Amino acid sequence: MARIDIEDVAHRYTADAAWAVDALTHSFRDGSASAILGPSGCGKTTLLSILSGLLHPTRGTLRIDGREATGLPPRQRKIAQVFQFPVVYEAMTVFENLAFPLRNGGMAKDEVKTRVKATAELLGLTASLDRRASGLSADEQQIVSLGRGLIRPDTAALLLDEPLTVIDPLRRWEIRQKLRHVHQETNATLVYVTHDQTEALTFADEVVVMDQGRVMQVGTPRELFETPKHAFVGHFIGSPGMNFLPCRLAGRELLVDGHRLPVDRNAFTDPGSGELELGIRPEFLELAREEVDGALPVRIRSASALGDHHLVRVALGERPLQVRVPDGTPIPTECGFLRFPPEWIRLYRDGRLLT
Ligand code: ATP
Repeated sequence: MARIDIEDVAHRYTADAAWAVDALTHSFRDGSASAILGPSGCGKTTLLSILSGLLHPTRGTLRIDGREATGLPPRQRKIAQVFQFPVVYEAMTVFENLAFPLRNGGMAKDEVKTRVKATAELLGLTASLDRRASGLSADEQQIVSLGRGLIRPDTAALLLDEPLTVIDPLRRWEIRQKLRHVHQETNATLVYVTHDQTEALTFADEVVVMDQGRVMQVGTPRELFETPKHAFVGHFIGSPGMNFLPCRLAGRELLVDGHRLPVDRNAFTDPGSGELELGIRPEFLELAREEVDGALPVRIRSASALGDHHLVRVALGERPLQVRVPDGTPIPTECGFLRFPPEWIRLYRDGRLLT
């Protein structure tokens, strides 16, 4: 498959509209599984349409395998797409659906047969090849759509636009597994667009997080979780998202709501001045019943049992925080002590991570 480079790409739908995609530079590596993740309206579909050639960007360049492709029509880009709703010919069999893009391209009969068989095997469709597409469930039809996207030998990349929208929630996990399998077996360049963090984080090796037309961070699921570069990413990734507290740096300590917290000062080379925020994930806070060294006193507001953990809402002074407590850990009833492990404290100035 191919590498896709976009350089300083921007798009607005009318001259006086806000930028739907703004100053975006990114490379989708050959053979990578990427996700574009962001809330509704952040520009995901616009970016996807620019990649597929349905939209010509207002500004910027797109290259496929190093060759200029900004003005190329969709057909010539050889970028396949799987949409929210399955695109299959219901009157045709699964075999005919898979063969269709190959026959259209003038491929010899024997080769068509070989490729259809291999693709069916990859996707677990072998037993369904003679079935009419009209008799398939939505998830089976979506797998056929995926096969149609993958089957051409000259496909440069496969774009998946919220492909699990119509899939029964119980089958989504299965299809995500199938996509991972397809990626491992074929090394296809896959770009998966979604607003659902679970889908993005389980599918992709690299996630592009967008907000208001801009890329906020590109990283592995782990990087986005452990070190959000922007407060937006801290809020958006995680369930619930990161806790934020206004604070001040005083030497090797942080002043938080009148309390002193030790931090690994070496982690912050540019404390500067002005309003700072401490960010810490609910998973990394430690709640204790007894006073422990360096822990801050908190009031317990509520605790909800959520399977293998409790989500405990506490207040530090008037500041609310959420703490994820593993099942089996004793939870204080009225007052407790909250430890902020220094290695998990992140500092943000104007929403940006201090490094
Ligand atoms: P969703 O998840 O809801 O599909 P999205 O992240 O895909 O959202 P886009 O559909 O790309 O976001 O929209 C980005 C911005 O561009 C939004 O402000 C939207 O209102 C605007 N927009 C999208 N399509 C058009 C259009 N055809 N004409 C005018 N504005 C548009």
